[in-house]
Amino acid sequence: MEIVDLNKWGIKNDDLPLGIVGPCSAETEEQMMATAKDLVHKNVHVFRAGVWKPRTKPGTFEGVGEPGLKWLCKVRDTYGMKVGTEVATDEHVRLALKYDIDVLWVGARTTVNPFAVQELADALKKYGGLDKPVLVKNPINPDLDLWIGALERFSAVGVTKLGAIHRGFSTYEKIQYRNVPKWQIPIEFMRRLPNVPMVCDPSHIGGKRDLIYDLSQTALNLEFDGLMIESHEKPDEAWSDASQQVVPARAIEITEELELRKAKAENSATINKLDALRKQIDELDHRLIAILAQRMDVAKEIGQVKKDSNVAVLQASRWDELVGDRTEKAIAQGLSEEFTTRFLTAIHQESINNQDKLMHSSK
Ligand code: PEP
Ligand code: MN
Repeated sequence: MEIVDLNKWGIKNDDLPLGIVGPCSAETEEQMMATAKDLVHKNVHVFRAGVWKPRTKPGTFEGVGEPGLKWLCKVRDTYGMKVGTEVATDEHVRLALKYDIDVLWVGARTTVNPFAVQELADALKKYGGLDKPVLVKNPINPDLDLWIGALERFSAVGVTKLGAIHRGFSTYEKIQYRNVPKWQIPIEFMRRLPNVPMVCDPSHIGGKRDLIYDLSQTALNLEFDGLMIESHEKPDEAWSDASQQVVPARAIEITEELELRKAKAENSATINKLDALRKQIDELDHRLIAILAQRMDVAKEIGQVKKDSNVAVLQASRWDELVGDRTEKAIAQGLSEEFTTRFLTAIHQESINNQDKLMHSSK
């Protein structure tokens, strides 16, 4: 995928994170205009509103459709902001382009379906929308390849202004968040596609307005390129996602209070300090790898002894004892039980694989 500089997208021209703010849904012209009026601010580049709403259950508000696009145009004409909406079908793309909506995004429920994503990519080509910025939300299930695959479909037809939105992942368990963030997934996305801007949607991750600030700060700490925040003039009366929307003044306050990290530390004392700490990490990692390799050699020797005396590879009681002992020591040194268990399990699996290979070899 090509190198993308957000400032070349025609939607912003500053060093600020991309700010996409606005109601979950376009409800009425009055609601749109009243919300937009209070969102005019340097931190808000794009006014968002869903005009077609993918809902979990039928019978709930499914969006106002085409009139909502007219209201978006009125917001743009009146307040000078760029505007964006979600598209999910060929017809949505046709209409969004007809009204020259500035930014299109693909919702989480659409990204899961390669047929639907392909339909959108083909529609952008068919209706002359290859130059539009397209932001692809993560699929509702934590599948990085599916997410990246969706961007590849747009790239393949010739869309060049491609970005991603992290909105968390659906889970059956009761958790603090509406959608678990699983930060390691967007981080891995950014490692694999460093040129694709990543926007965080703390409103859909949190599901509650009180969580938006902290989630946004975490995203900025992780070098995300922007934020998408849901804001409504009367959040409690919103027709969708009421509990996660904030009044415009609060949305702006959040963007103003966030601490912006510079991607590159400018001050030389900081650079030197970071360099020294990174050298320490490099050194520790080299030692860690050497110790793991050494441990694996011993495990292989044990495997040989087991093979020679015809003993089974897996000895559960020995393993239980080992995990208990190591976890206790790890916790005492400040490591979490969850991490220790996962780490030991991975090492154990590799030992078993090696010993098993040995059992099947002729030596
Ligand atoms: C939305 O942005 O309002 C929306 C429906 O989001 P998601 O696709 O992340 O659920
Ligand atoms: Mn919403």
